[in-house]
Amino acid sequence: MEPILSRNFNVPNAWKLSVAESRGAYETARKTLTSMKPDEITQVVTAANLRGLGGAGFPTGKKWQFLPKETTKPIYLVVNADEGEPGTFKDRYILERDPHQMIEGIIISAFAIRSHKAYIYIRGEYVEPFRRLQSAVDEAYAKNFLGKNIFGSGWDLDLVVHRGAGAYICGEETALLNSLEGGKGFPRLKPPFPAIVGLFGCPTIINNVETLACVPPILKNGAEWFSKLGSPGNGGTHLFSVSGHVKKPGVYELPMGTLLREIIEKHAGGLRDGRKLKAVIPGGISAKILTANEIDVKMDYDGLKAAGTMLGSAGVIVMDDTTCMVGALYLACKFFAHESCGQCSPCREGTGWAFKIVKRIYEGQGSVKDLDTLLKIASNMEGRTICVFADAAAWPIQSYITKFRSEFEEYIGRNVKLEMQNVK
Ligand code: SF4
Repeated sequence: MEPILSRNFNVPNAWKLSVAESRGAYETARKTLTSMKPDEITQVVTAANLRGLGGAGFPTGKKWQFLPKETTKPIYLVVNADEGEPGTFKDRYILERDPHQMIEGIIISAFAIRSHKAYIYIRGEYVEPFRRLQSAVDEAYAKNFLGKNIFGSGWDLDLVVHRGAGAYICGEETALLNSLEGGKGFPRLKPPFPAIVGLFGCPTIINNVETLACVPPILKNGAEWFSKLGSPGNGGTHLFSVSGHVKKPGVYELPMGTLLREIIEKHAGGLRDGRKLKAVIPGGISAKILTANEIDVKMDYDGLKAAGTMLGSAGVIVMDDTTCMVGALYLACKFFAHESCGQCSPCREGTGWAFKIVKRIYEGQGSVKDLDTLLKIASNMEGRTICVFADAAAWPIQSYITKFRSEFEEYIGRNVKLEMQNVK
């Protein structure tokens, strides 16, 4: 398969405009803005089956169509570059190695949704990606690819890069909007959805970095071409971040629907010598874990849903037989307890309480009854909060304990015995 999103990742200095242009950057935007109508672009993106590649997987064209047809308010395009899901580093590659592909996607998408102002919200920890992105935006302005009357099309577009301050929850789209407005990164109750009441109370579309980077190749090669690259209903390719106990961790661009086994064994080089697979998180730390027997699964939104988990951010974390599942859950719970924004009691109290219990188990003071308490806490966190963060915090607890219960019980038993020996 010819790489599409990653085709410039290994081209030296592709983040500079001169190199990007020599590789065809902005040709599609120029053609599109001077020959197509906004609604035609939306139709092409819809037909391409492009899904939101930040984690939610919502069909992009459909999202754009939620905007009001008539409005006197400005429409905003906001780019979610707050890539904070542990195990995920694919957007970083685009921002750092080929930002012009995304900027071109922003230009086409803003035109399609009739927006004259776009914001990129980039996570604060991404220092080098920010520097390169800002430099790419400045170069695009200097060439009049951004600003007034771009490509002589009569269309104006301003693009602002805004740095976050390192809160995981600001990757949730309404928390991101609050943060961008200068407020606390608190998710908002929905409805109303951002397409109706978004940034500064105006209609707003929020799209992920990779999603927007897909837009130029779709407009260049057509909806059918893109749709056929992937699996039914999941168009195109996806960048998979692969980390953990594999020989070749990294970012791999593969068709949607590629088998998880193929990603691990073929593309990421397989496990370290002499080790056996124990578990895989398929879509960032929030996704339910899969056991070694569950990796013949298609890596797309529908395939992983059918397997009881989710594609999420496509951050594949591979664990071999040296991994302690109690320790793995300890880290996940610590993360969620730290990152809860605190607005909802089930999330604020639940994540903190779960972490305390898992910590107790991890430190050798747990009991088997604690496992049932954890499952109860997790089920009381699901579906009762303003945003899905609480659900995401509950899923690792449920899946690790359910699928590796005997290991948890053995760990607890071992530590209890040790403690008794010490007392004697
Ligand atoms: Fe905040 Fe958690 Fe409620 Fe989301 S679920 S709004 S992170 S407290």
